Amino acid sequence: MCLICDRIAMIQRGENPYFVKELKTGYVVLGDHQHFPGYTLFLYKTHGDKSELFHLDLPERTAFLQEMTLVAQAVDAAFAPDKINYELLGMGDAHLHWHIFPRRSGDIGSYGNRGVGPVWWYPMEKMYDDANRPTKEELADMKRRLLSALERVIAARNGDGQAIG
Ligand SMILES: [Zn+2]
Repeated sequence: MCLICDRIAMIQRGENPYFVKELKTGYVVLGDHQHFPGYTLFLYKTHGDKSELFHLDLPERTAFLQEMTLVAQAVDAAFAPDKINYELLGMGDAHLHWHIFPRRSGDIGSYGNRGVGPVWWYPMEKMYDDANRPTKEELADMKRRLLSALERVIAARNGDGQAIG
C-alpha cells in the first residue's frame, strides 16, 4: 500500500492525468493541488527498501539527483518563479519522491515569518483546498508548458555531452 506506487501504476496504465514525462530514474508529474503554481513531483521508479538517498548506489543516486535537477530547471523555465524549493520527505509514503515547489513573493500570505518561510508554514487545509485543483484546461496547459521546457532542458544537457534519460 503506497500512494506513489499507485500513481506509478496509473501512469503505466495510461490513466494518470498528472503525468508529464518518464525519465531514466523516475516519473515527472504535476501536483494534484496547485496553490504554488507549477508544483511538480519527481517519483523514483521503484519502491523496494530504498527509502533514503544514501540507499542508492552512487551511479543511481547521481542519475536520480541529476534528473531531479533537470526537472527543477524545467519547472523554473516553464513557470518563472522567484525561487525553487526542494523537499524529499517520505513520512507518508517511504517511496523516494521529490516535491519541487516554485516559490513567489507573497505565496504564503502573512503566514510564516511575516510571509517568508517554507511551504509547510502555509496551512495544510488551505494548500489542499479543492479550489487549488487545476481545471482540465489548466492542467493541459501546465503539462504542455512543463513538457516543452523539459524537452528543451534535456536537449541542452545532452548537447553538453552528458547523456540523460
Ligand atoms: Zn511505493
